[in-house]
Amino acid sequence: MSQADPVLLAIDQGTTSSRAILFSKAGDILNVKQKELKLTMPEKGWVEQDATDIWKDTLWCTREILQDAEEEMIAAIGITNQRETTILWDRETGAPVYNAIVWQDRRTADYCTQLKEQGHEEMIREKTGLLCDPYFSATKIKWILDNVAGLRMRAENGEICFGTVDSFLLWHLTNGDSHATDITNASRTMLYNLKTQEWDKELLELFDIPSQILPEVKENCADFGMAHNTVLGHALPICGMAGDQHAALIGQACFETGMVKSTYGTGCFALMNIGPDFKLSENRLLTTVGYKINGQISYALEGSIFVAGALIQWLRDQLGLIETAAESEEKALSVPDSNGVYVVPAFTGLGAPYWEPGAQGVITGLTRESSAAHIIRAALEAQAYQTKDLISAFENDSGLSVDVIRADGGLVANNFVCQFLSDMLNVQLDVPKVTETTALGAAYLAGLQSGVYDSLDNLSSGWAVEQSYRPSMEDQIRVQLYQGWQKAVRQVLTA
Ligand code: ADP
Repeated sequence: MSQADPVLLAIDQGTTSSRAILFSKAGDILNVKQKELKLTMPEKGWVEQDATDIWKDTLWCTREILQDAEEEMIAAIGITNQRETTILWDRETGAPVYNAIVWQDRRTADYCTQLKEQGHEEMIREKTGLLCDPYFSATKIKWILDNVAGLRMRAENGEICFGTVDSFLLWHLTNGDSHATDITNASRTMLYNLKTQEWDKELLELFDIPSQILPEVKENCADFGMAHNTVLGHALPICGMAGDQHAALIGQACFETGMVKSTYGTGCFALMNIGPDFKLSENRLLTTVGYKINGQISYALEGSIFVAGALIQWLRDQLGLIETAAESEEKALSVPDSNGVYVVPAFTGLGAPYWEPGAQGVITGLTRESSAAHIIRAALEAQAYQTKDLISAFENDSGLSVDVIRADGGLVANNFVCQFLSDMLNVQLDVPKVTETTALGAAYLAGLQSGVYDSLDNLSSGWAVEQSYRPSMEDQIRVQLYQGWQKAVRQVLTA
């Protein structure tokens, strides 16, 4: 690499860790620094993180990268983050007024039920594309305002800032100069109107949230502010920002209507680009902003599977059937099929498109012949069945047929899973060369704004496939296997 080649710095602040990654213009990873982050559960259903740790860890990772790199080579910083997690802080000092309430937190579940009973959900859905759920930021903000003594008054006086993690990091990186967010993170607050593309007055009133605390909403490629010399040791422009799943959509270069990315980590998140027209799902998927760049918005449908890789961890840690996640592949391939066994991993209810919070997991089809290998195989196959449920919903909602899925996340290391996904969905499954698609997406956004890349076409042509899986299963077998899955899911839903 020559001195003149610009590089890009991505900050990827996730639920389990904070990271800074340096990318070359070609999208190769040059350096990574990472710090694990703690979660605390002070009460049943509550999930919090120390917001100061979120900032300090991110700062540490970023400084470490800068120490190794030469300042003048870095064109810009891009930020991507765990979504929905809610922080309120003092506008003067930057000190958080309460812990970060993490997206998984369910403390406002009763309040959400109450809102639904009062008939507010349809209005919320029509404006935000979301379901009325504690997952999103609005009810978390309200909780903090209602529960920290004197805070509401201070918020009304303009002394308090709200932000998701992106905003909080931006504020600190810029030494308080910039209180902003991007449109994808805003779209997960349940306060942002996707049609008018502004904070929504009616929603702010409903949740009793003063508009003074809100950040300015920018497009994904924008001048978000200058990371301060005194903070990083170098002044660097922050030019890109997006929530993690949206950044992955960008990192996977899904820029055309109908393109789908699916990320298989602990859970699985799939997004389909549906183009410039806002459309509500009829299959209980979420509508969200895919990205907005140069005044052009692309909406996305989003479906989440709560348990994906977590099922493999369960086989390892709870059942002791495998010693490592990777071993699951060899075990699954030691039998020709699952012999009629299905695992429906509804450990925390079933997500899209079922949304059955009370559902519990089952293993069905057990006989005297069933072996550990059959159960392991069924667990891996469940990844594909769950994805097929989601993709069918995408197809029904969009009227588009999905021929290719771009996949990433820890589970794509498993060839059996990838091939079975391709077979069961009858699609081509592409795994890219750079699987850190979330951080890459943030780097891409920063690079677009800072002139490292000219256009989205530039990014599309830079995206490269590492391995492509093509379907090779007979239709009849596919149909038969999937019917078995649907039967198993029915048992969960009616239990
Ligand atoms: P997250 O970002 O949610 O922490 P990752 O993308 O790092 O998750 O993926 C980790 C998950 O992938 C774990 O749940 C693990 O069980 C699963 N996993 C990793 N490698 C394999 C493999 N070879 N086969 C099956 N599952 C795997």
